[in-house]
Amino acid sequence: MSEVANVEKIFGENVFSLGVMRERLPKNVYKEVIRVIEHGGEISMATANVVAKEMKDWATEKGATHFTHWFQPLTGITAEKHDSFVTNPDEMGKMIMEFSGKELIKGEPDASSFPSGGLRATFEARGYTTWDITSPAFLKEASTGLILCIPTAFCSYTGEALDKKTPLLRSMEALSEQAMRIVRLFGDTQAKKVMPSVGAEQEYFLVDADNYKKRKDLIFAGRTLFGAPAPKGQEMGDHYFGVIRERVGGFMKELNEELWKVGITAKTQHNEVAPAQHELAPIYDTANIAVDHNQLVMETMKRVAANRDMRCLLHEKPYAGVNGSGKHNNWSITTDTGVNLLDPGETPNQNIQFLLVLACVMKAVDEHADLLRQSASDVGNDHRLGADEAPPAIISMFLGEQLEDVVSQLVETGEARRVKKGGKLLTGVSTLPDFQKDATDRNRTSPFAFTGNKFEFRMVGSSDSIADANTTLNAIVAEAFCEAADRLEKAEDFDLAVHDLIKEYMAEHERIIFNGNGYSEEWIKEAEERGLPNIKTMIEAASALTTKNSVALFEKFGIYTEIELKSREEVVYETYAKTINIEALTMIDMASKEIIPAGVKYARILADTVNASKTAGVEPVAELETLKEVSDKLAKMKKALKELITEEQKADQIKDTREQAFYYKDHVIDVMKELRTPADELEMLVDKEMWPFPTYGELMFEV
Ligand code: ADP
Ligand code: MG
Repeated sequence: MSEVANVEKIFGENVFSLGVMRERLPKNVYKEVIRVIEHGGEISMATANVVAKEMKDWATEKGATHFTHWFQPLTGITAEKHDSFVTNPDEMGKMIMEFSGKELIKGEPDASSFPSGGLRATFEARGYTTWDITSPAFLKEASTGLILCIPTAFCSYTGEALDKKTPLLRSMEALSEQAMRIVRLFGDTQAKKVMPSVGAEQEYFLVDADNYKKRKDLIFAGRTLFGAPAPKGQEMGDHYFGVIRERVGGFMKELNEELWKVGITAKTQHNEVAPAQHELAPIYDTANIAVDHNQLVMETMKRVAANRDMRCLLHEKPYAGVNGSGKHNNWSITTDTGVNLLDPGETPNQNIQFLLVLACVMKAVDEHADLLRQSASDVGNDHRLGADEAPPAIISMFLGEQLEDVVSQLVETGEARRVKKGGKLLTGVSTLPDFQKDATDRNRTSPFAFTGNKFEFRMVGSSDSIADANTTLNAIVAEAFCEAADRLEKAEDFDLAVHDLIKEYMAEHERIIFNGNGYSEEWIKEAEERGLPNIKTMIEAASALTTKNSVALFEKFGIYTEIELKSREEVVYETYAKTINIEALTMIDMASKEIIPAGVKYARILADTVNASKTAGVEPVAELETLKEVSDKLAKMKKALKELITEEQKADQIKDTREQAFYYKDHVIDVMKELRTPADELEMLVDKEMWPFPTYGELMFEV
């Protein structure tokens, strides 16, 4: 048995938490920090200086040597630039480590090399990072030593957001303000704010490092671009929730401990559907912290895997033919007094506040389905959405039997008199306890499913930041709350008005509700009849950011300016074009330098054998047939390879990024498929000893 961690002791030991602050900071300083965390506003420089000194002392006592402003540029991952606490020594050569309030509050990284979608040309490189006091600083333990990480937002000199955090924070404030109007209408005088809570379930694959290193596609693209299917895939259903293999178990144990240390509540772990695929979920937290934590989860998974001679693949589709990975974003909204606005209670039909909130969410999701779909798009996710393993690319809502019944009663008669109850679960075995069932079954094909007291947005990709999804969710729901509050605040008879409003919203947006099988052909047709958008790819979804509807929404609540939205759309096209370009170049490289040469070598052996057999007077039937097959695949590969080179060069020449992205999608990707097919067939013909890299079987089953 390896050493067992004392979880209570290690939990949060690397976090500059409220507890640590309360202990170390003078009372008035601590109070000011709390005030800003809870109610916003600026922190004074005097306070910042005290916090910075204590933060530095705390960090250096633990052995930290550097600090960094830790931020989330539009690459979707995190960025950091380390500065040591070292200062100039005095005449005696003695050096004192220092960290000032100014350094805590503001950083000036050179912003020119981060994606900005044209917001900031290289000659206007200035960008600023500013301390996000609402997400605690923490120590990152890596080979660099201990680094004090300060979560920050990242903006341009002119104030435009260059990151994922700033709009998220703006959206949380907007949601809080509008949701507060709703709860006030229902007589809540205690609550001061409403916060979105998020729990992100993270799927991932593990692969042996030696195998990984032999695959250029995994190294450069994060996914396999070639590979014949293994004899066994996921068809037996024996991996999902199966016994966790020892090597993977060791990884999970270390991962949990590392996460606990930085205050992440790693909670569930299990094997997922595909071989070598797994999942981890923490306990939900405030959206902003959950987003930061999810970034840390992904980063820690990679680091721990590397320490254990493995690699963690976060790509949405590392292997063709088996499930890819996603991230379920569980979302709810709760007052600071602890009331979850999405909790229907025992009798949802009588819970008017809940029904109004539900009606608003229906309206929000229906009116902004395109935006919500956009918020879950990344290049890898194009392989999943609509591919029968993940939700379809069509946004719909699953409410479950109980709520659907309430909604249809309300729509039909304006009143919901009945509510379906869960009933008892009877096993028919006298020694097993009978228990009360949930009123609603689950639906795993729905992109946006109500699950008890939260919505589970199941579309997000495994490698993607969850910031965009939550920014969008907060924004669209804030808008619906705002419109409802505008009307209800003016109403003479509140009860009547709220009743009418619920009925009106539900009737108008009932089309967004779908409780059936989201993977079926019929649904695609039906969704079309209902007028629901079915946006298949990331780049087709991108323009949703800048429709009149979206610009009005985001500008109204100060979440994005039109310029910021345009720049983000531009980044989508850029990212897409660059990613497909890398994939195409990697395929060209592997095909030219590894696969075709292996095929040629094998063909040569076959040809020699054919000749030798003939000389010996034996008819080389099998050898000749194999040789012909090998030659045929090689010829097909060569043809596709030439075409891919031509198409890739054409795409590369295109100046307009949108046009370029579409060229990659419409021309390059098809040729990539044409190159892959004969290569995978060749793999099934060539002597295993001569195949240049590990096969699907080895990648997925040797972990
Ligand atoms: P499952 O896979 O069965 O959906 P998991 O336990 O893997 O469930 O993940 C559920 C996630 O939802 C967890 O991160 C959990 O903390 C989170 N969650 C639970 N309740 C809420 C809530 N009210 N708001 C937001 N997230 C929640
Ligand atoms: Mg789960």
